Amino acid sequence: MKIKTLLCNCKGLSPSFQHTDLNTLPFDLESDLDVEYAAAHPQLCGHGGKALLEDVLRAAEDEPDTYVLVGACAPDAQTKLFKKVLRATGFPEDHFIRLDIQNTTNDGILDRVRAKIVSLTTPEKPH
Ligand code: SF4
Repeated sequence: MKIKTLLCNCKGLSPSFQHTDLNTLPFDLESDLDVEYAAAHPQLCGHGGKALLEDVLRAAEDEPDTYVLVGACAPDAQTKLFKKVLRATGFPEDHFIRLDIQNTTNDGILDRVRAKIVSLTTPEKPH
């Protein structure tokens, strides 16, 4: 299983992200967890962010072992924000993992990503 991780900084303005440091988080994620890579973007739901996400999803369309984990706002919000991007690609919906990384610290985000990876590698648990 390959897990590619994209992290959003919500424009650097949202109070929900005031305790996180997106400059150091990708390196910590790559060092501590079994992810292919971690990358940060300032606004994944903006024009450039969606273009980046679409490129990542298209590149993984034919990789059945690849999951793309997006750490950003709440999963329901992500579903609305990224619906068109997902539709525009052939990337499987069940390999697109939406994770809420708001209102915590970098360590808290690491814990949430770690727990999500465990749920992905434990088939009986829903993700
Ligand atoms: S994707 Fe979510 S967290 Fe990222 S900028 Fe948009 S609203 Fe904020």
